[in-house]
Amino acid sequence: MRHHFLVESTIGLLLATSSCAGSIGSVETGKPEARGNPFKDVAFFLNPEYVASVEATAKNHPDMAAQIQKVARYPTAVWLSDLKAVGNLKGWLDEAKKQQDANGKPTLSVVVVYNLPNRDCSAASSAGELLVKEDGEERYKREFIDPITTEFKAHPDQPIVVVLEPDSLGNMATNMAIPFCQEARDAYKNGIVYAIKSFHLPNVSVYLDAAHAGWLGWDDNRNKIAKIFKTVLSEAGGPQMIRGFTTNTSNFTHLSNRDGAVLEPSNPCPNELAYIKTLAKTLSMYGFKDHGFIIDTSRNGKGGIRAKWGSWCNVHGAGLGERPRADPAPGIDAYFWVKPPGESDGSSDAKGPRFDEMCGNPDSTPNAPQAGQWFQSYFVDLVRNAHPPL
Ligand code: BGC
Repeated sequence: MRHHFLVESTIGLLLATSSCAGSIGSVETGKPEARGNPFKDVAFFLNPEYVASVEATAKNHPDMAAQIQKVARYPTAVWLSDLKAVGNLKGWLDEAKKQQDANGKPTLSVVVVYNLPNRDCSAASSAGELLVKEDGEERYKREFIDPITTEFKAHPDQPIVVVLEPDSLGNMATNMAIPFCQEARDAYKNGIVYAIKSFHLPNVSVYLDAAHAGWLGWDDNRNKIAKIFKTVLSEAGGPQMIRGFTTNTSNFTHLSNRDGAVLEPSNPCPNELAYIKTLAKTLSMYGFKDHGFIIDTSRNGKGGIRAKWGSWCNVHGAGLGERPRADPAPGIDAYFWVKPPGESDGSSDAKGPRFDEMCGNPDSTPNAPQAGQWFQSYFVDLVRNAHPPL
């Protein structure tokens, strides 16, 4: 996962016309009539594998066990990060169905679909398995999206939210100078269009990833991403094909403090709620008027932890953020823990595979395992620094 922060701040400064500061209160994004907010009036799937990692950590830390165990009550997303992971989907959805029957109410699973060819094209730590050069686009469609679609169709009575391809369109907006990203342009677009069309099912709501304030907050970047969303959605059948947008996925940007104003004064969006407020306005000029947002609050509880806003890897001092819930603020469908707190962002071993320098920078935490692996000491710190406290 990469949260590439490529500053086009000089242009951003020149074009900065709208102030992002303030509360979300006045945003009027509305709701698509047909679907409504999928997070509302549902229970959430609890992933037994995640719960097991939390329980094991509680055992190893008896002094904090009670606090740690509370985390197991909150839902996290499941990630489909490679072809092999698709084999887990049936098990997760079957388990969610069991929980739904026990809960006596619809039980929502949040699934991150994350395996485009040339994935993580501007970074290294989450480099994927498919390559554009090696027929990646076709393989993505046939071996990844198709079997996922089959599984969604096989669980028609359960609500499912898809977070589609974090970072990918953000990279298309700002990182086209990187040849590996440039090479991926058509494959990203075609793959996402194909996924949106495939997932247009009565039980599935799709959210496209819109990076975060520290990446796309500048006016020029927001306009670029809005244009890209427009192009993608026109090919996919129109803006109503998706429920909305996800932001802050696996990132640390605080909901409401003024960190951003200190770190990057030229960015008109100093925090995530300000970003959403302004992004919603930009998007409405491109035909996205009735869309909801998910903010990943898994690790953004504490502000003031980064020397650079661009630091995205296992940022030291982070704490769990707002608890997952529906309708936390107008225009926002949910706060949700999209990144399962405790899973690493990338290895800090400079000599090992998939090393990205950001995972060895002073803002990041040493001794980190590969992306997606359980990072126990980091998880304990997240719990200790939780805000609101557990
Ligand atoms: C990794 C994935 C992992 C996900 C959730 C990403 O950064 O690349 O492999 O599943 O994080 O932890």
